[in-house]
Amino acid sequence: MSGLGFHNRRSVQKRLGTFWNGARLVILLGPPGAGKGTQAKRIAGQYGLQHLSTGDMLRDNIRRDTELARKAKPLINRGELVPDDIVLGMVQERIAQSDCENGFILDGFPRTLQQAQGLEGICRLYKSKSITVLNMLVKPELLIQRLANRRICKRSGHIYNLVDHPPIRPGICDDDGSELIQRPDDAEAVIRERIRTYEQHICPVIDYYSVRGLLYEVNAITDPDTVMANIMKVLDAEDPAK
Ligand SMILES: [Zn+2]
Repeated sequence: MSGLGFHNRRSVQKRLGTFWNGARLVILLGPPGAGKGTQAKRIAGQYGLQHLSTGDMLRDNIRRDTELARKAKPLINRGELVPDDIVLGMVQERIAQSDCENGFILDGFPRTLQQAQGLEGICRLYKSKSITVLNMLVKPELLIQRLANRRICKRSGHIYNLVDHPPIRPGICDDDGSELIQRPDDAEAVIRERIRTYEQHICPVIDYYSVRGLLYEVNAITDPDTVMANIMKVLDAEDPAK
């Protein structure tokens, strides 16, 4: 395995060995626009887990204009996947930080079989007591409708939807008055490509967790509160503390 993040694998392993003794890991799978971010934040709050989004990690790299960002940005803007070794390295470095020691929820990762296998290696190293994989199910046409209407505040990332949650003044953030923009990867043609790419790669990931008995399917077509209630039923039943 080459690429960013693996050069210091040994030092990361050594550090992890000192504090990680079996925290909870939740993996949230679902297509772009399924509402993973919203639910992941709520799950993190409810169960005291750190919320880790590979999308946020990538955007953070893009803001800082890192070498990784320069490699990843053209791919993201075309709706393509960032190479596995880059994403795995980024995730491994992130979860080695001390704020993840009580457990974490992965939002938008793993997206490929190689990433799932890489993650299993990392988990073995962490001696994770409990891994729960939640697969959010939504119809593609609903996703396209949701994402094409999404607008993001340029300054603080506040999220709007032109249909469900429009701003009071068109194009202006209610909270801070800054400009609302459409992310380049939310344009309809790019969304279709993102969903196609997602589905193509996620099937073996679903099978991988399914045969290990870790996979739970969650209906994500309904409102966020009902989706969260469905998720909590699974996570409460799987609580490692019980
Ligand atoms: Zn704002």
